[in-house]
Amino acid sequence: MVDQAPGAPEAADLVIRDAWLITMDAERRIFTDGALAIRGRTIVAAGPAREVLPRFTAARTISARGAVVHPGFIECHNHATLHTIRGAIPDTISWDDVSQDFYVPYWNTVTDEEEHAGTLLACLEMLRNGTTCFLESGTAFEPDVVARAATALGIRALVGDPFLWDVGGFHADAPEVRRAPATTERALRLLGGQLWRNADPDALVRGHIAIVGMGSASDELELAAKTAADAAGVVLNQHQSYCATDAADDDRRHGRHPLVHLAELGVLGPNAMFAHMNVIREDEVAPIVESGMAISWNAPASMMWGVGGATGGRHAELYRAGVTVGLGSDSSNWANSFDIGRAATLAILAARDGRRDRSILTAEDGLTMATVGGARATGLSHLIGSLEPGKRADLVIRTDDLPEAHPPTDPIAAILYASGSKSVRTVVVDGRVVIEDGRPVLLDAETIYRGADAAASAVLGRMGYRAPARWPRIG
Ligand SMILES: [Zn+2]
Repeated sequence: MVDQAPGAPEAADLVIRDAWLITMDAERRIFTDGALAIRGRTIVAAGPAREVLPRFTAARTISARGAVVHPGFIECHNHATLHTIRGAIPDTISWDDVSQDFYVPYWNTVTDEEEHAGTLLACLEMLRNGTTCFLESGTAFEPDVVARAATALGIRALVGDPFLWDVGGFHADAPEVRRAPATTERALRLLGGQLWRNADPDALVRGHIAIVGMGSASDELELAAKTAADAAGVVLNQHQSYCATDAADDDRRHGRHPLVHLAELGVLGPNAMFAHMNVIREDEVAPIVESGMAISWNAPASMMWGVGGATGGRHAELYRAGVTVGLGSDSSNWANSFDIGRAATLAILAARDGRRDRSILTAEDGLTMATVGGARATGLSHLIGSLEPGKRADLVIRTDDLPEAHPPTDPIAAILYASGSKSVRTVVVDGRVVIEDGRPVLLDAETIYRGADAAASAVLGRMGYRAPARWPRIG
């Protein structure tokens, strides 16, 4: 701005033109011949091409070729490290057996290097599917493993402390996870251990407060976690009310429904972001709505395990009542893929199914939950979620070069119901192009695939794992 003649073009690092630009701003404006200018990490202009383009001289210009440009998707709940064991849990294992039969043996042998290899795969997958920010839900033994993988691929991330629990662990009868015994002393000692990352206002990887939740936290730990989140101005993330079993455990422990209990305890509030929330009883609705809390709706992760939360849950009604709802994938044997567009589509379809009301959620609602909803849920709405001047440049450029993008009558419906993540072409995070024409810019995809495959083979080998041979496999 300094030393510039009035009316002279300003310098920009990146200009995106020829865009069907979905801003997700407060008015939900779409510029059908739009352009966007980025300087450093930040969007400096977003609007009609005729207004934006004459204002800037750009170091680099990308044409969207008339395709959609939209804010990057935000993944509110995942366990990125678990990609190392994607697909290892067969469809035939039950919820009651999965902890002791699979997860505890895995957690008691996996190495940080193996989790790093899986996390690189997870980060690449998210970017390829148009996700530019994710919240790791607090089950990486070494959170820096997640931070390093995210940084290496250029995706924005929020990390929390590992396995903070102090009531019985993941499952009442499951054996102990040796690296993470469920004690109050350990949980309180580690609590807030990732918040140092927030001292840098430009940090790509930030810290939040994570506890495991879902019946695994004492009131003391819940309150300490909420106090720490309040003091640091970050979200408190935990699992809650996934299925009938854990909700019943909570009912017994508290003598009342868990959201009623947690509201009275003072744990709910605008910075509380609970994942799943599939089993919500009538008396829990008001505490949720009145608290201003947020939900990560992980519809595919409910449908995969048949817990009834996707079609029988109250997410759509809570969203309609003004509750902030973002979307999550959970993990590699729950949603199986980290694809927030797919999560949005499944959430919409699940909400409609059985209600006989197809307008309960629309494609626009799916896009809202995937972007501005996720930004609010993760406490980052001042930075991301929409394409407006002052926000960080986290965005997706689609392509029309596939059958599902045609005819272009309703490009939003096309993204949600037809093309899905197949139409993601180029992805920008923090002003930097990190996926270009479907390939990662900063690391080699083949190397990531080989590393993840080798890590899976090593850890599953030590577990004595055998792929279930329901059909003959002939080598
Ligand atoms: Zn989870």
